[in-house]
Amino acid sequence: MCDDAIMPDMEHYPCVESLLTTLDPEHPVYCIYPHVYQRSAAAFVSGFPGRVLYAVKACAEPEVIRLLAESGVRHFDCASLVEIETVKTVFPQACCYFMVPVLLRGEARSAQKNFDVRHFVIDHPDGIKRLKSEIEMSGSVIFARLAVHHDAAMHDLSLRFGAPAEQVPALLKAIASTGAEAALAFNVGSMVTEPGAYRHAISIAAEIMSNLPFDIRLVDIGGGFPRSYPQFSMPPLDRYFEAISEAKHRLPVTAGGEILTEPGRALAAPGLSAISEVLLRKDDRLYLNDGMHGIFWELRYEGHKQFACRCYRGGERLQGKLRPFTLYGPTCDSADVLPEKVELPRDIRVGDHLEFGGLGAYSLSGRTDFNGRYSDHVVMLDSPDALPPGYSRYNQ
Ligand SMILES: *Cc1c(COP(=O)(O)O)cnc(C)c1O
Repeated sequence: MCDDAIMPDMEHYPCVESLLTTLDPEHPVYCIYPHVYQRSAAAFVSGFPGRVLYAVKACAEPEVIRLLAESGVRHFDCASLVEIETVKTVFPQACCYFMVPVLLRGEARSAQKNFDVRHFVIDHPDGIKRLKSEIEMSGSVIFARLAVHHDAAMHDLSLRFGAPAEQVPALLKAIASTGAEAALAFNVGSMVTEPGAYRHAISIAAEIMSNLPFDIRLVDIGGGFPRSYPQFSMPPLDRYFEAISEAKHRLPVTAGGEILTEPGRALAAPGLSAISEVLLRKDDRLYLNDGMHGIFWELRYEGHKQFACRCYRGGERLQGKLRPFTLYGPTCDSADVLPEKVELPRDIRVGDHLEFGGLGAYSLSGRTDFNGRYSDHVVMLDSPDALPPGYSRYNQ
């Protein structure tokens, strides 16, 4: 498909300096670094010992989806018809999986009829009933989602979704009795801080599978792979891949069996930056044109509290002695303040620009238009040498 058909207005600049010199933007600008996405996605796909599904909710920006697809991601974990449609528009050959156990009435039917979706998930017997009434079960793969808990997950995803281990065999048998292929899924959590959490969950899955009267071909181990941020250092992804490669031999999958993963953050985070302008300085407090209701939406959750940052004046990098600043957003909400002070050049002033790096996950997809503050200005920075702030330190 021709790029112009999808993104008629996407501007390209070689690097952030040329963008700032050309535009001197008064609204926030979000920058895609295509080479960074290509590199990090290719490393994930070649390093993970199985099938990689991108969890679209982490960043549904079409250009990011296209870059991931170009870099070898062929499968997409979607949670709504809108996400499926976005993916299929950008990359018609994509294989979309509808991996949320609670769907709107008619959604499964439309997904199968219009987009040929064949992979669904349930965590309750009523989910099977709903699917049976809407889709062709034979030829479909239905995952039963198992709830697993581990202390190494910053965000436990098993509180809302997933069936207790003792109910999973009955769900798998009920799926198989409909003529669909029964498969197993779980999610360790999001921002999983230790590779051992996957080992633990895989051993629970192995136990369930070894007591079933039939074989399972596909085991989806979910997403949750972390990225590092300032003051928030995580193990490198290779350590997770090694732990999973080892543990996967314990799974009694059939010949031709495969494990699947659904990374969101690990694929979405590295290649996106955000440019904000300083609107007002009061001593050690800076007021920016983007904030907690905008691109920094994710900082309200437990986990990392900062993004790597660079400062620019008139398109030139501003260096010099640093001091900590409190950063406020542009809305009238008193909670519109970033959770941790950020070290910035002492003489920073109104009109300077800040570039924050590594914030592709849960940022564009979370921002709101609260108070009428909203930017949809997304550009490409496509010099192969251009790197977002913090890239080399936080993305090994
Ligand atoms: C959010 C989500 C993911 C992605 O989680 P990350 O922590 O971003 O990798 C994967 N699978 C499911 C079912 C999710 O809800």
